Amino acid sequence: MNNIVEKINQLKNQKKAVILAHYYAPQEAQEIADYVGDSFYLAKVAKSTDADIVVFCGVGFMGESVKILNPEKTVLMPDISADCPMAHMAQIHRIKELKQQYPDLAVVCYINSTAELKQLSDVCVTSSNAVKIIKEIPNKNIFFIPDENLGRYVAQQVPDKNVILNDGRCPIHAQITKESVEKLKTLYPRALILTHPECTKEIVDMSDFIGSTSEIISYANTSDSKEFIICTESGVSYPLKKNNPEKKFYFPDTCPPCADMKLNTLEKILYVLETGNNSVSVPSNIRKEALLPLDKMLEIGK
Ligand code: 13P
Ligand code: SF4
Repeated sequence: MNNIVEKINQLKNQKKAVILAHYYAPQEAQEIADYVGDSFYLAKVAKSTDADIVVFCGVGFMGESVKILNPEKTVLMPDISADCPMAHMAQIHRIKELKQQYPDLAVVCYINSTAELKQLSDVCVTSSNAVKIIKEIPNKNIFFIPDENLGRYVAQQVPDKNVILNDGRCPIHAQITKESVEKLKTLYPRALILTHPECTKEIVDMSDFIGSTSEIISYANTSDSKEFIICTESGVSYPLKKNNPEKKFYFPDTCPPCADMKLNTLEKILYVLETGNNSVSVPSNIRKEALLPLDKMLEIGK
């Protein structure tokens, strides 16, 4: 293990590379990464880095977004097959149909979407800036793609807008059941429920706090409570326990790990640094159009 870590660090310095990891990546990837965070934070880091190579321990849409924001940089994915199924869950014909129906329609896409969907969108959002961005755009009619759960949560905070929901969801968060959370609450009645907005409405409705992965972590870091039920993917347990060794964190047993995120192993990080393989590419016509909603998000979300 140490040997791999040394080799990765050596190659990283030699090749002027930087390693980014999402909180759902395996602990070993989070430990070696230069930056670990939620999707919005990582997009901002990617935009401002002066490294030549970005190794992104995440899933397809994340690497793609880095490449769209930095076409001159090499973006390497430790496992090129790591993908977010939800990123594909919106239909182009439905976007076109709604654009005809509502002339002022803004297509707002969660960053968990393919470059092709971003290309057809007006602005991109993440779970930590979606409410702020939707409040700031002038359009009344919004088609929120692809996540119906985040869309519904956001719609509640912007009652003056008509937020049209899409038939798509995260297959990981969707498996967290009310019963599994209630079971934990019965065992640990003083625990606060901290939830990612990709969870279903019934989980969101029973929660004490709703936020992105980073927001869940900072809430737990600063809260006086000592016990928490965490309704999101278990990768966040590493920063939660590291920052708060005296606090207890319980995860619903119905939430599986995000198998795609877990593909980002040390061996694969070393492999891409050694070979330069698994380089992300986005066709230039798609890139130019997909850049607009991403740039708009970074501008409004500042
Ligand atoms: P965050 O923006 O909260 O990091 O979430 C990304 C994600 O994929 C959640 O499933
Ligand atoms: Fe996609 Fe869900 Fe995995 Fe996040 S947890 S990357 S939304 S499949």
